[in-house]
Amino acid sequence: MRVSGLLYPFSNSTAYEVEALLENGQLVIHYDQNRAARCALDNVSLSTQIPGVPVQATLPSGERFVPHSPDFIWPISAHRQGMAKFERHYGMILSALLLTPLLVYVLLFKVTPMAAVLIVDYVPDSIVETMGEQSMYVVEENFLSPSALPPQTQQEIHAIWEDALVKVALSQEQYQLGIYASEHFGANAFALPHGQVVITDDLISALKDNPDAIRAVLLHEIGHVEGKHSIRLAAQAFAGTIAMSFIFGDMEGILELLIGSGNLIMGAQFSQKMEWEADNFALERLTQLGHSNTDFADALKHLKTLSETDKDSTSERAQWLEYLSTHPSLEARIQHAQSYQHNQ
Ligand SMILES: [Zn+2]
Repeated sequence: MRVSGLLYPFSNSTAYEVEALLENGQLVIHYDQNRAARCALDNVSLSTQIPGVPVQATLPSGERFVPHSPDFIWPISAHRQGMAKFERHYGMILSALLLTPLLVYVLLFKVTPMAAVLIVDYVPDSIVETMGEQSMYVVEENFLSPSALPPQTQQEIHAIWEDALVKVALSQEQYQLGIYASEHFGANAFALPHGQVVITDDLISALKDNPDAIRAVLLHEIGHVEGKHSIRLAAQAFAGTIAMSFIFGDMEGILELLIGSGNLIMGAQFSQKMEWEADNFALERLTQLGHSNTDFADALKHLKTLSETDKDSTSERAQWLEYLSTHPSLEARIQHAQSYQHNQ
């Protein structure tokens, strides 16, 4: 059988006027003088049947063939034809129309929030890397400037950081610490999904007499990375869109969405549950490192005292409260940190 139509080669917008040859279950299309596209008919993927629109075939090698006639029916294998008949059956169409909103509802409000949590473990490292790097780029450009702390202080912080990484057996390649001055963030520390941790000059200055507290804060931030909290947040925020992508089979769209979520990562707050997880990570590692779990309680208490002394101050130092305001339920956390029992 011969069918006339247009052939679109892979990654090329030129269309060739061709005659496709369908014989012995094979599809062969000669085009552009001596080039040919061929494959088994069962291996072509066909576009959805829409009345009045030709059903186009995509070959595994990427070429697309669009028959001229909208009435052309592809001689495909029995079960695939069964599917086509199913779609033509009006009763079926009607019930599908009625069922679709229900399906969308269930997907959107029941399945996706669960899927958002599950999907986190399947986001490829390269995507996490891109998400993190893009966020870091945006943040660095807009809100961070080089640290103004004396080089010796910076070295001391880096020494605490590297010591913690080595002893907790975390990859020194994955985890990077950046020390920055930042008016925007005040006294703060945060982590990006790919393992970049940022601590500001103001927070270091606030805790300068208490290196154990700084270690506790850094481990808490690492806990957010290890718990993949940013990715979980992004996945939850985009749950609806992700559901739609599932429905339309656009998995690449989901990944693109996550990559573009840099601003969201910085804007959103971790849930209480995530904070607890990061706290527990820090507490467990602190005891592993031979430090006391009270270090973390001390860090929090120290921050709290500083915030209280600063309360009536009108100085710009009042800003340094940021780390606490982004980390809620302080009292409960201090108690938890104090009473934490290493359970191994
Ligand atoms: Zn936190």
